[in-house]
Amino acid sequence: MVFCLTTRSFHQTATIALRLERGDKIYEDANLSSSAAGSASPVESDSVPDFPNHPLGGAPEPQVIGHNLKCFRSADQKYTLGAKSSSFSRTIVKDAMDHRTLLNNVGDLSAEFARRRSERQLRRSLDAGDFDKLARAGLPLVGVPIDEGGLWQNVETSTRPICEVLRTLAQGDSSIALVSAMHPAVLSYWLTVRNEAAEDDAWQSQCRQIFQSVREGSWWGTMTSEPGTGGDVGRTRTIARPTGSPHQYLLSGQKHFGSGSGMMSSMVTTAVTEGDDQPDWFFLDLRDVPWDGSRGVKLVFEWDGHGMTATQSHAMVFERFPATRIAWPGHLPTIVARTGSFIGCLFTSVIVGILDVALETAYLQIDSGDQRAFEQVEWARAKTEGWLVQQAFEGMQRAVEQQDDPRLDVLHGKTAIAELSESILTRLCRVIGGGTYARRSPFGFWFEDVRALGFLRPPWGLAQQSLIDGFSSAAE
Ligand SMILES: Cc1cc2nc3c(=O)[nH]c(=O)nc-3n(C[C@H](O)[C@H](O)[C@H](O)COP(=O)(O)OP(=O)(O)OC[C@H]3O[C@@H](n4cnc5c(N)ncnc54)[C@H](O)[C@@H]3O)c2cc1C
Repeated sequence: MVFCLTTRSFHQTATIALRLERGDKIYEDANLSSSAAGSASPVESDSVPDFPNHPLGGAPEPQVIGHNLKCFRSADQKYTLGAKSSSFSRTIVKDAMDHRTLLNNVGDLSAEFARRRSERQLRRSLDAGDFDKLARAGLPLVGVPIDEGGLWQNVETSTRPICEVLRTLAQGDSSIALVSAMHPAVLSYWLTVRNEAAEDDAWQSQCRQIFQSVREGSWWGTMTSEPGTGGDVGRTRTIARPTGSPHQYLLSGQKHFGSGSGMMSSMVTTAVTEGDDQPDWFFLDLRDVPWDGSRGVKLVFEWDGHGMTATQSHAMVFERFPATRIAWPGHLPTIVARTGSFIGCLFTSVIVGILDVALETAYLQIDSGDQRAFEQVEWARAKTEGWLVQQAFEGMQRAVEQQDDPRLDVLHGKTAIAELSESILTRLCRVIGGGTYARRSPFGFWFEDVRALGFLRPPWGLAQQSLIDGFSSAAE
């Protein structure tokens, strides 16, 4: 347990609440109780948090920070990108750290985000400065192998600590947590299979380059979904035409839901190469690329989600845009099978973090004992469902740690938590009242944010189909 509430604790695990203890530090946040009631003015401070392990604030040279982490702070760079303006984080993470330090750093950052919740929940875009702070906190290293200075060991041991970090982050800002989840999610395509072709120089070289890119400040995301495919990458229609150079293609097709667009340096996607009948993985370097179509990328729909409002999950059309194919080609089903459970846990951890803070916030308001029967029953049912979420999430992580093929258990858990989280937020809003319908209350935002889980891969229809099939036909 990282945080614990000293009074009236609802959860085992932390939320950003009135009084937190961590180690020998005590955090007081008098703002939360009033913001939960919808009447708070946010604390006017977005200062760099006081990471115990970080000297933050513009050091021009790499500095030793705490245990064994060094980092550069680079100048924020702004690029005007055709129709839109975007920023790419350039914070360079130099050396490895440990999960405990990372969790502490992200906890501090999450608490800082939570103090400005009422302002942050109204945002429609991401802030590069937040991703620089996350880089300095060490978060990108979850996508780098431990023997290359990162935090990744394997799916069995790395899933739980990464989920804990994302869950903690989501307690402070849902959109940032979801975008951050995409980074380890797609890097797992290389992390989980890099030893499969140990003798293949091209494959090993690509793995090293990708991990190096992360250490040099690149964030990775994904823009795989295509309209009409129902989240099934096997139904990809985007075409990749070979250029003649090894692994280099020109990609044409329509993609949507690219969370972190404009913030992620590289985006992983799928395409079918000419002559093949199955899609494969590719990645796109989108740094400094305008979105006006002049270089093969055109923004067709700017993200306008009801929830996860600041994720910049834009829709783009690509026309002969340069793409690099995964250097272990033809193994998409194997990679999907290896990584699906890990990714399912990541997405779920974000929603569990939102439920943590929603239930805790509700608890501080509701448990006055002065309620009618309806409110008492709805609150009791919300708490029961919250308990079920904890059990399901624990079951998912334990399945990953202990089972050879945890896909079915993880999908049962993700689907159950998607349903339960919508139900919990519905009940909380009814109990707390009509004020939750107002945008000054956090509950309406959380209500929409948790709805994302059911749409995230595998989305509802595909998830149910997989549960019916029971993964009887193994993907490999
Ligand atoms: C907040 C948020 C963030 C996301 N971030 C990302 C991201 O970063 N990267 C990314 O790649 N994706 C992302 N996604 C997309 C997600 O992973 C799914 O791909 C997407 O939600 C699928 O939408 P859909 O099911 O409506 O599919 P659509 O393809 O839009 O399908 C529309 C309708 O057709 C139905 N349909 C489609 N195919 C079939 C079929 N074969 N048989 C029957 N019915 C069918 C669907 O069930 C659905 O009812 C995000 C989604 C959300 C909500």
